[in-house]
Amino acid sequence: MKRGKFGKFGGLFVNEILMPVLISLEEAFEEYYPTSEFQEELNGLLKDYGGRPTPLYFARRFSDLVGCKVYLKREDLLCGGSHKLNNTLGQALLAKKMGKSRLITETAAGMHGVATVMAGNVCDLETEVFMGSQDIKRQASNVKKMRLLGAKVTPVNIGKGVLKDAVSDTLREWTSCSESTYYLIGSTVGPHPFPEMVATFQSVIGREIKEQILDKEGSPPDAIVACGSGGSNAIGAFRPFIENDDVRLYFVEGGGDRLDADNSAAAFRLGRPGVIHGAIMQSLQDEDGQIKPSKTRSAGLNYPARGPEISNLYDTGRMKACYAFDEEVFEAVKVMARAEGLIPALETAHAIGYMLGHKEEFDKDEVVVLNYSGRGDKDLDAILRYFENED
Ligand SMILES: *Cc1c(COP(=O)(O)O)cnc(C)c1O
Repeated sequence: MKRGKFGKFGGLFVNEILMPVLISLEEAFEEYYPTSEFQEELNGLLKDYGGRPTPLYFARRFSDLVGCKVYLKREDLLCGGSHKLNNTLGQALLAKKMGKSRLITETAAGMHGVATVMAGNVCDLETEVFMGSQDIKRQASNVKKMRLLGAKVTPVNIGKGVLKDAVSDTLREWTSCSESTYYLIGSTVGPHPFPEMVATFQSVIGREIKEQILDKEGSPPDAIVACGSGGSNAIGAFRPFIENDDVRLYFVEGGGDRLDADNSAAAFRLGRPGVIHGAIMQSLQDEDGQIKPSKTRSAGLNYPARGPEISNLYDTGRMKACYAFDEEVFEAVKVMARAEGLIPALETAHAIGYMLGHKEEFDKDEVVVLNYSGRGDKDLDAILRYFENED
C-alpha cells in the first residue's frame, strides 16, 4: 500500500519542512501504539476518565417512529459530550511518549478544542487552540470553557476567519515549532498518518458496537448510520464492519438550507477530489479549484472536505452518502427529545433526520445502529432560537 492512500484519496502533500515531521510521527505511532504499555494507559484513560465503554441503547419509541429496530451508540455520554475525546486522548498520549511539551490544534465549533485541552491537561501538555475570528464570536461559551481549562486561544484573521483558514494557519505554525509541539488534528483528515491514526483511535466505537450488538441481537446490524464531515465518528463506527458487505453504511452530511442547497456543506453531492490540507480528499471547490465556503447551521459539519477513507468508501460504492436539510435537522432534535428524552447535537440530528425522512430504506425487522455522536447542550441556544422564529 502506498503511504496513506485510500484508493485515489489520501497521501501526503506538504512542504519539505513538514515531510520529515510527518514521517517521524508515523514511525512513533507504529512504535508506541501496539505496545501493551500504551494500550493499558490509553484504555485506562478511556475507561476511568472518559467513561468507556459507552452504552448501546435500544431506542424503543424512536424505533416505532422509524419502523425498524434502532440502537443508539451513546457517544454523547463520553466525557465532554461527544466522541472527540477518543481521538484527543490517544494523540495526546502519543505526543507525551514522543517527548513533546505542547499541543496545537484548530477548532470551529470549539468542541475539538475543548477535547484537546482536556487531554492535554491529563497528559501534562500545554495547549494552544487556533480559531477563526468569526468562529470565536459565534462560539463564545466554548472559548470561555477552553480558557478556563487553561488553553491559549489564538484568533486567526486570515481569509474569512473560519475553520479552513485556521487549519492552514495551524499547519504554518507547526512548520516553525515541530520540535517541541504536536499538531493534534481533530478528524480523519489531513496528510498521512493523521487519517489512519484518528481512525484507529476512534474505532473503539465500532469495536464496542460489534460486541454489544452480538450480545443483544446475536448478529451484526443490517445498517449503521452516522453523520459527519471529516468522518471520524463515522469511520470509527464503520471500521470493524467494512469487510462485511451485509452491513449497509450510511453517511449523512450537512444539506444546509433547502432553498440554498447548492451552497451547503454536502461535499459528496457537490464536490470533487482535490488536494486540500495536505491530502487528496473529496472537497467543495469553485470553478478555479479554490476551496468553496459552505453553509449549514451545524458548525461541526461545516468542513469543506471529506477524509480520504470516507471519500474512498463512497467512491467504491461501499457506503451511501446522504444529507439532511437544516429544517429536517431541527425537527429531528424535537422528535428525539420527545421520543427518548435526549437532546442530540445538531450534527447527530442529521443522522436522526435522515432516518425519519427515509423510513422506506429500513425494513421492519432490520436492526440499525445510529451512531449518536454527541449531546445538544452546546446547541441549545440555536435550537431554541429556531423554534421561536418558527412559531
Ligand atoms: C465534531 C463532531 C462531528 C463531526 O466530526 P466527524 O469527524 O465527521 O465525526 C459530529 N458530531 C459531533 C457531536 C461532533 O462534535
